[in-house]
Amino acid sequence: MTRSNPRTFQEVTDNTSQASDDLLRTGAAAALLGHFIIGQHVARQSQIADELNQVLAQQWQWVDMRDIPRSGSAFTTAATRAVADAYEQSQVAADQFVRELRAAVHPEAEPLPALHLPSQPEVMAPVGDRFPVGGAVIRAGAPDTGRIARIMDLAGPNAALERMPAPTNVAMTDGLRSAQGVATRMALTGGRKVVLQHQYLDKTIQGWERVTEPGCCAFCAVLASRGPVFKESTFPTERLPDGSYATRSRNTGKTFTSGVNDLSESAVPAAVHNNCRCTLRPVFKNEPQSFQAENKNLKKLWSDTTKGLHGKAALNAFRRFWDSGTPPPLPEVRDPAVERRVAAEQILPMLKTGLANLLSAPEGHEGAIEYHQAQIKRLESYLVAH
Ligand SMILES: [Zn+2]
Repeated sequence: MTRSNPRTFQEVTDNTSQASDDLLRTGAAAALLGHFIIGQHVARQSQIADELNQVLAQQWQWVDMRDIPRSGSAFTTAATRAVADAYEQSQVAADQFVRELRAAVHPEAEPLPALHLPSQPEVMAPVGDRFPVGGAVIRAGAPDTGRIARIMDLAGPNAALERMPAPTNVAMTDGLRSAQGVATRMALTGGRKVVLQHQYLDKTIQGWERVTEPGCCAFCAVLASRGPVFKESTFPTERLPDGSYATRSRNTGKTFTSGVNDLSESAVPAAVHNNCRCTLRPVFKNEPQSFQAENKNLKKLWSDTTKGLHGKAALNAFRRFWDSGTPPPLPEVRDPAVERRVAAEQILPMLKTGLANLLSAPEGHEGAIEYHQAQIKRLESYLVAH
């Protein structure tokens, strides 16, 4: 276990305003850390989309409007690979995010099995001198590259061709924009499905909630304003005797036991649009009340702007307000100094107490011990770095 550096911690804890003392006393600590972790997740997913869009812009230079069949298919092949890679990055980042948020809310919970990506070999390698707990893994689904290729071709080279006889540069710009829009939507679905797969498998999670990006559209704001969606209403599910869930496809009625991975992008319950960078977060049992205050603000905004209205009329009223540029209610102010202090004074001691308890318990907690040690190490290096 890494030893903490007292001087660094002193600096960290001194760098906090008077007001934050009240926040800590009112038990908002885990909420603040959770809020921070959610914010990092949104930023990381957005970064994955940015990097993908840059790669696509480079690949797009191969497209020659005079020979779309040949040059377009070269683009589509390379772009499909890039989207699939970003999909996997989104999966890995989302998995890490769920584990971090889970550790903040339930540091005492047994660790989750490792995530297994379809691109990884099936053989389980030992970790240190032992095999992963029970040999179990959480499986992530593979990106549907056939579908990605079809959509990239339609939204990219074919969309550019359809713009003709527009000036070539206009057709090219439009084609790239549209290719980037569908690519962003498809790639970030990797992470969204991983969050849903976790909520499907993990008994500490009771549902999921949409997390909008800064500057999101009215459509996404409305969906986020609805708040948590509980496990039972996410899919037509069956509760199995062991407490886990089976999923039934709305279309075929077929029952799946591998959960969300079997669902196509269009069947994923969180509706997204092209260019959408909205993410999902798991909603835990017994999590702090003030998690995701933005969505509570959006809910209030929805009820304020749609009084006496229903259905389409309500949606239109909300959209008019949202698009009018009137600033939406401010989200809770996130103070990095408070977040650092919360990590140092609340979460870290909680993890250390948990570790001490595990170490003094009878044998059989190797996985949990390893998990606590890893979380403590991560948190300490975060505090030193920030
Ligand atoms: Zn969105």
